[in-house]
Amino acid sequence: MPGFVTRFAPSPTGRLHKGHAWSALLGHRLAQNAGGQWLLRIEDIDPTRCKPDFEAGILEDLAWLGLDWPRPVRRQSDHLADYAAVVDTLRQRGLLYRCFRTRKALLDAIGDAPHGRAEAACPGPHPADEEAVMLEQGLPFAWRLSLDRARAELGDDAWNDLSFVEEGSGPNGETGRIPARPETAGDVILARKDAGTAYHLAVTHDDALQGVTHVIRGEDLFEATHIQVLIQALMNWPRPVYHHHRLLTGPDGRRYAKRDRSVTLAELRAGGMTAEALRAELGF
Ligand code: GLU
Repeated sequence: MPGFVTRFAPSPTGRLHKGHAWSALLGHRLAQNAGGQWLLRIEDIDPTRCKPDFEAGILEDLAWLGLDWPRPVRRQSDHLADYAAVVDTLRQRGLLYRCFRTRKALLDAIGDAPHGRAEAACPGPHPADEEAVMLEQGLPFAWRLSLDRARAELGDDAWNDLSFVEEGSGPNGETGRIPARPETAGDVILARKDAGTAYHLAVTHDDALQGVTHVIRGEDLFEATHIQVLIQALMNWPRPVYHHHRLLTGPDGRRYAKRDRSVTLAELRAGGMTAEALRAELGF
């Protein structure tokens, strides 16, 4: 196995934009410089937002950019049983609890608190009698990771020692050895109601399985790293080095994002842009 393995892990919930192109080209170049591998992984566990057409579009756009990757490509929806097995293990260790709350109910409960996110607002396990009633009623539930139980299992020393190496930088310039603070994220969902798994679990499982040594991704996922480090510690999975990068911004100074309908690579191509011109514009 090469000493440097990284991955580009898009979710097929839309077409790629320039920000994706920049991230992919950066990871590819760092892998090439290190004589390593650049993997492509399709993160399509969200059954409502992910579409096969978007996946096909991603492959087309990356090939157009001149990138190449080892086959077969790992598609997360083909491996739901693997993630379910990890959920089972964590559940049997008593680290997970059922959560019947809706995201909306959690967000409503915290009102307009700044940075108020559903996870951080989750008040913990339901009282046993309430849970029994909801189970009886067949209501859907997610599995959440209890940070209290995780901490108790690891022990305070190991918990306080949780850290990762940042070779890029976080949103506030964080770099070098970073202490992990999983408590900022709260009790995250590891198995969604609709998918049986969730982002943090699938991503850490696959990084370990695929021998990823370097995670190169946008700084918007810097905070996610803090919880992913905890999952690695609980599962005894190796910890990659992290390289978060700034998010590319457009001419208006705003970062590219799918939800803003940023111009897609497909549209640029249709408008006559060549891959060479785009690479040059992005500094590759
Ligand atoms: N699939 C995630 C996304 O599209 C990226 C996951 C990662 O790089 O860790 O935002």
